[in-house]
Amino acid sequence: MKTATVYDVAIIGAGPVGGALACALAASGLRIALVDKAALPPMEHPDFDGRAYAIANGSKRLLDEAGLWDELPFVPCPILGIRVTDGKPGRPPSPLKLHFDHSAVGNEPFGWIIEARALRIAINRRLNEIPNITLFAPAEASVSRNTDAATVQIINGPAFTAKLVVAADGRNSQVRAKAGIPVTRIPYHQSAVLCAIAHEKPHHGLALEHFLPGGPFAQLPMSPIPEHKNLSAIVFTDKAAIAARLHELQPERFHYEIARRLGSQLGKIEIVGKRWTYPLSAMYAARYTDMRLALMGDAAHGVHPIAGQGLNLGLRDVLAFTDLLKAAGPGADPGEPALLARYQAARRPANMAMLAATDTLDRLFSTNNPAIRLARDLGLAAVERMPRLKARFMRVAMGS
Ligand SMILES: Cc1cc2nc3c(=O)[nH]c(=O)nc-3n(C[C@H](O)[C@H](O)[C@H](O)COP(=O)(O)OP(=O)(O)OC[C@H]3O[C@@H](n4cnc5c(N)ncnc54)[C@H](O)[C@@H]3O)c2cc1C
Repeated sequence: MKTATVYDVAIIGAGPVGGALACALAASGLRIALVDKAALPPMEHPDFDGRAYAIANGSKRLLDEAGLWDELPFVPCPILGIRVTDGKPGRPPSPLKLHFDHSAVGNEPFGWIIEARALRIAINRRLNEIPNITLFAPAEASVSRNTDAATVQIINGPAFTAKLVVAADGRNSQVRAKAGIPVTRIPYHQSAVLCAIAHEKPHHGLALEHFLPGGPFAQLPMSPIPEHKNLSAIVFTDKAAIAARLHELQPERFHYEIARRLGSQLGKIEIVGKRWTYPLSAMYAARYTDMRLALMGDAAHGVHPIAGQGLNLGLRDVLAFTDLLKAAGPGADPGEPALLARYQAARRPANMAMLAATDTLDRLFSTNNPAIRLARDLGLAAVERMPRLKARFMRVAMGS
């Protein structure tokens, strides 16, 4: 096997985490090979498709450093406030339970809602602009590793070596499986139904998290598009069988189910774009590193989307790794064992804590047990009266 080309880092998976990592590392001069089994341009859905990410402040720094923020083709919508309510099935949100206002902790918004297709377009643009990134897509690769380097063989293509391989190939990572790193999965028996709504009244940058026994119902403020000046994303979680039925409902019935959970504060609504359904589970890898290998993003962890943190955790993995590599100085070996150990120490405990927090939140709120409901409502009311505790929650949500 001829392995002529030498890269600093080979990244398997050009999703938002692998794509952002490639751009961030290449910006500091490293030679990067990026492999994805899918062709990237078709991932840019030409039409508005209603899927969105909540990007916390901490993650924005990475997107800035990777040159992706300025490439976003549609303006991100700042989240200025979050209303947390709970309720009974099919009822609109109860009167105010908790209200987080960004101005209580500074001038920055909590985060931004960005369209998923906007991030994809930005990543594709950057990947094609940066000369020290070599893209193999659509392509699959087999990876072998020894103490000095990893060898990546593109199936029916070239082979090359790299000092580090990053598995950013998502939840069912083959690179992780081949390295023999075990994973633990926690099924939620819930699915999330996603769509977008246009509405009569402006959202003023406010998000809603409405807790229902089947799972949370979230409304996330989005920036206007030419066809609709008031727009929000909906993430509607429920038991898997109910979510499957919701996905199949006739448009007018689906509209009714969304409207009665949302309440009247946004006026009349109209469903726009498609409906998407995702089965939910949490997952964590037993370790994030192996010889010349690091796991990042969903290849390393998956959390319940209740707090919109999934991608943020992956982007923070990238930020931690790029910061550690910079701190190691120019010419540092990105696959050096001590550096990989520092990466795991920086990220695995933090991600496990978020997994536990989102899991607890889901169990606490997705129940109709009257005792738990009472304790929870008293807890919400107590937090509402404790400005310092509220501010702490807000800083965590902002990723600071
Ligand atoms: C309903 C729902 C709502 C969510 N909402 C939010 C939110 O509001 N905010 C948030 O931060 N996160 C959210 N998330 C989580 C977020 O979508 C994921 O955390 C994020 O997509 C992970 O990115 P990734 O790049 O690690 O993996 P992926 O997006 O899964 O990308 C993996 C890439 O690897 C490629 N690949 C796979 N296998 C191979 C292989 N063998 N060889 C080569 N390439 C391969 C794939 O083609 C893909 O491009 C949500 C998730 C769900 C399910």
